[in-house]
Amino acid sequence: MQAPTHILAGVIINRLFKWRNYKLVGLLLTFICCMFAHAFFDQLALSVYRQPEPQFNDPFWLIYHLAMWLGSIVLLYIFWRDYKWGIIFSLIPEFDWLVLGIQHVFHFDIPFYQMPWIHFSLNYILVQIPPFNYMDMLPDNRNNPWACIWELLLIAVLAFAFRAMVRYRKNIHF
Ligand SMILES: [Zn+2]
Repeated sequence: MQAPTHILAGVIINRLFKWRNYKLVGLLLTFICCMFAHAFFDQLALSVYRQPEPQFNDPFWLIYHLAMWLGSIVLLYIFWRDYKWGIIFSLIPEFDWLVLGIQHVFHFDIPFYQMPWIHFSLNYILVQIPPFNYMDMLPDNRNNPWACIWELLLIAVLAFAFRAMVRYRKNIHF
C-alpha cells in the first residue's frame, strides 16, 4: 500500500495504545500491531492500483504518486509530534525497498539482502493465521488505474476512524 495508508494505520494504532501507565507495554503493542497492519495492508494491496515498476512516462501514475507523496508529507506534518512511534513502526518494513533501491541505483550487491526480507517474513507469519491465509485469493488489480479508488476509500475510512476515536475520547472527558 501507499505511505498515507500505512501512516494513518500507525497513527490509529499509536492512539489506541497510548496509555498513561504501562508506557513500555503500550509501545510494544504499538510495534506488534503496526507490523501486523503493514503486512495486512500490503496483502490487500494486491487488489489496488500499484505498478510493480515506476512508470515515469505515464501521466496517471505520476499524478497519483505525486498526490500520495504530498499526502504523506501533510500527514507527517500533522501527526508526527503526537504519533511518531506509530508512524515509524508502520513504515519500518519499507526499509526493504530503500535497501534494494540503493543497491539498484548504485550498482552494488549486499549478498544477504536481495529480497524484501522484512515484507517476506511478515507475510510468512500473516498467511499462517486464518482468515488472513485466504487473502491471496483477492483479485489482482495492480495494473488497473481504477483500482486506486480502493486505496483512496481505505485512506478515507482510516481518516474517519481516527476522527471518531478523537471525538469518542472527548465525550468521555467533558
Ligand atoms: Zn510495504
